[in-house]
Amino acid sequence: MEISAHRPIEEAIVTAGGVHLREVDPRTMESKIVPGLYFAGEVLDLQADTGGYNLQAAFSTGWLAGTSAAENAISEQH
Ligand SMILES: Cc1cc2nc3c(=O)[nH]c(=O)nc-3n(C[C@H](O)[C@H](O)[C@H](O)COP(=O)(O)OP(=O)(O)OC[C@H]3O[C@@H](n4cnc5c(N)ncnc54)[C@H](O)[C@@H]3O)c2cc1C
Repeated sequence: MEISAHRPIEEAIVTAGGVHLREVDPRTMESKIVPGLYFAGEVLDLQADTGGYNLQAAFSTGWLAGTSAAENAISEQH
């Protein structure tokens, strides 16, 4: 099948581009450039086919970034 055009931007589902994955620690989602800064979801240069993969990426990186930031804040208090 030959693709002749794409759907309009109003129907776009996921963004390409964003913070490069090489600049992020995958164990914590913390920036390797700015310590204490965490990323999740669409702000990352990460995109997949539709079918739940983008939602799962947002949920998983969001959980990891949030728990890592909280653990970092707790360890800094002690
Ligand atoms: C029409 C459509 C259909 C989709 N269908 C699918 C699908 O079938 N399967 C799939 O896997 N993915 C799908 N996606 C993609 C998926 O929804 C996204 O990848 C995912 O929701 C991204 O989550 P996020 O939390 O990173 O960003 P978002 O869900 O965009 O959340 C960002 C939040 O930040 C808020 N915000 C923005 N600026 C500020 C600010 N300055 N201060 C405070 N808050 C702010 C926004 O209001 C928003 O609530 C679809 C997307 C669209 C648009």
